[in-house]
Amino acid sequence: MIRELILRGEVAVVGLGRSGQSVSRLLRRAGARVYASDAAEADPGIVAQLAGIGVDAGTGGHDLDRIAAAAVVVSSPGVPPDAPPLARARERAVPIVSEVEVALAFLPAAKYIAVTGTNGKSTVTALVAHLLRALGLDAVAAGNIGTPLSDVALKVTPPAWIALELSSFQLHDTPSIDPEVGVLTNLEPDHLDRYKSLQEYYADKMRLFANAADRSIWVTNEDDAEVERRTSRLPGTRHRFSMRDERADAGPSATALTWQLLGSDFVTTADIPLLGNHNIANTLASALAVSVADAAHRTAAARERLAEGVRTFKALPHRLEVVADVDGVLWIDDSKATNVSSARVAIEAMTRPTVVLLGGKHKNEPYTALLDGLARHASLVIAYGNAAPVIEADLAGRVPLVRLGSSFHDVIACARTAARPGGAVLLSPACSSYDMFTNYEERGDTFRRLATMR
Ligand code: ADP
Repeated sequence: MIRELILRGEVAVVGLGRSGQSVSRLLRRAGARVYASDAAEADPGIVAQLAGIGVDAGTGGHDLDRIAAAAVVVSSPGVPPDAPPLARARERAVPIVSEVEVALAFLPAAKYIAVTGTNGKSTVTALVAHLLRALGLDAVAAGNIGTPLSDVALKVTPPAWIALELSSFQLHDTPSIDPEVGVLTNLEPDHLDRYKSLQEYYADKMRLFANAADRSIWVTNEDDAEVERRTSRLPGTRHRFSMRDERADAGPSATALTWQLLGSDFVTTADIPLLGNHNIANTLASALAVSVADAAHRTAAARERLAEGVRTFKALPHRLEVVADVDGVLWIDDSKATNVSSARVAIEAMTRPTVVLLGGKHKNEPYTALLDGLARHASLVIAYGNAAPVIEADLAGRVPLVRLGSSFHDVIACARTAARPGGAVLLSPACSSYDMFTNYEERGDTFRRLATMR
């Protein structure tokens, strides 16, 4: 359907980030006429490169009339649905599809395991790709994790398997999603700054199942009541992972201190190099997804290879990553924790008295859900940035807390003074970074740099 649509008239690509550039190349290769635009000024080098392959790239604003006249609009994940170019396209009934939707049309033979959920998506996606490779398969991780799916579609020989991370925004405009296995990690409040309601956000996540049929295979979180409620009647076979139910398809073992996979002992907690219980759940989800994707992945020999894959997996940057050990204080970068539920699991994963840095751009979620974990693990909370007054209002008087402004230098200096040898400093901000940084990566990199600076 998409392949016909893109040849019917001009294609308007909205957003010139990595995925916008990549899908423009893919569309040009397929012979489409492409107008690609961005509200911000793009690097002139990029504009020139795109012009070189015949893409009409406009930066520093969108030509809304041109977009309204397009045959189809391709949205980038960073562009909110109510942004003027998308709003105008919708008004004129121009179909809007995601970059993923376009890329999938050019990957007809690829098998993909799609991963969504509020938290743990990137970890599970990377781990799924790693485990597929541990089985000797040609596999890559793509999508929201960083490598646009269009990059994969542009390859002369695409890989046999793709681990595909999908955000709710991407799912919104990917109607042909139909994975080999679909994984839903969990559902928690998030993005309430961009969605009108939680229901709307969950509804986008549920689009993973848009084409569910008897042949479909799903991996879902049995411990998450919201996920259970929404997935119990799906067409297809559902495999569930759990941290507490021995009868789950992946979960604790009844007899020994191991985690079992499809009824056989799999790995011990010590085999999992990642910090925190949530990462055990992520490991179970990933191993289960790879196992059920193909009968050949379920033999005893394959299980042994998967276990070895678990042991050799390294934490992704900015996800509970230990970045420094300074005078007996561990500095832990969890900058990717941009919502309250992800910060909660990070705080609960701490085993030392910890100075916890919370703050950034407030996303309309209450911080009170952090109180339990903070009471047990936090020697001090430093609230900073745009969200600081709300964090203080939610937590002060119940845990030791200081409120600072928007200087990250001051935040780090305060943490350094407060932390004791044998303790830790955890950046797990529960907020997005956009008030003080370009993105969570820059926030995490700054944390790492300042942590090791004398
Ligand atoms: P996502 O891609 O969904 O944002 P990541 O794998 O990048 O998820 O992890 C982001 C942060 O979310 C981590 O640093 C950690 O604090 C938290 N997190 C990871 N996995 C889980 C999980 N299964 N449940 C809850 N929180 C998690």
